Amino acid sequence: MKKVLMLTVAVVFGLALLMGGAPADVQAKTTFVTIGTGGITGVYYPTGGAIAKMVNAKRKEYGIRATVESTGGSVFNVNAIMSGDLEFGVVQSDRQYQAYNGEEGSEWAGKPQKDLRAVFSIHPESVTLIASVESGIKTIMDLKGKRVNIGNPGSGQLGNSKDALEAVGIDYEKDLKAEFVKAAEAPGLLQDGRIDAFFYTVGHPNGAIKEATAGKTKVMFVPVEGAGLEALFAKKTYYAKSVVPVKNYPGAVNDADVPTFGVKATFVTSAVRPDEEVYAIVKEVFDNFDKFKKLHPAYAVLTKEGMLEGLSAPLHPGAIKYYKEVGLMK
Ligand code: GLU
Repeated sequence: MKKVLMLTVAVVFGLALLMGGAPADVQAKTTFVTIGTGGITGVYYPTGGAIAKMVNAKRKEYGIRATVESTGGSVFNVNAIMSGDLEFGVVQSDRQYQAYNGEEGSEWAGKPQKDLRAVFSIHPESVTLIASVESGIKTIMDLKGKRVNIGNPGSGQLGNSKDALEAVGIDYEKDLKAEFVKAAEAPGLLQDGRIDAFFYTVGHPNGAIKEATAGKTKVMFVPVEGAGLEALFAKKTYYAKSVVPVKNYPGAVNDADVPTFGVKATFVTSAVRPDEEVYAIVKEVFDNFDKFKKLHPAYAVLTKEGMLEGLSAPLHPGAIKYYKEVGLMK
């Protein structure tokens, strides 16, 4: 019996060697890291997938295995990284600023998240307001009295819709029927006539807006602009004017770009993550930049230099090491 066991062990060992890898018990330890994203029809989810793909390709070299989790969005991701439930996450640049600084009026008022670390920024995101044609909503002011999804708690967009509404003098608690459902559910509700409009802060193109514009219910993108918004951008400098690139969605009734404002998606972690781990991820994304850029159409505008902009938490030392090595930082 003993002999048979020995033989089996020897065969398994030999096979493993033949297959090119060291047997499991002598292989270096693998660190599992999870990247928090957003709804599966947004851009964060495929972004987490793109980053994981780059680093997992070198799993043997780094001993890192990255997986992706669909979550409620930016605010959830910051909190989960800070509590150690997630190692990395995609987070709106405005949310990164608010969390690190404990900005008044934000979820982190008086509770600055000093261990939050920036890694790089990614694609631009636009505050996207979309309404059914039937609702008659043509401007942000027309939202009064309507059923509007302003975002789930934990999402990035909830803060942006609240800011936009407040800036134009609409009280979301009194002046409209606010819903707080996840962005992935909003397109279905709009198509079924159960809401009149929804806000989503997201990169373009994305699956959720495709779904919202491709059904029987005719929909249009609504401009998010006006004097009140100009005042908002002056006060909150993490907001910048942008547009929704409507050409991506032939199903919508508009065809020209629609003015709005936006932020950037950023990749963040905690100060407790080891330098080698953050370095490895940054290196794989930047060394394979052209390959990475092709993984999502929202990355078309990315440049390596641009990916170091829009960050407000301190850069993680593992990221700094790489940026200095390749001359992206002095
Ligand atoms: N910006 C959204 C948020 O922070 C997520 C967008 C996406 O998933 O692409 O919740």
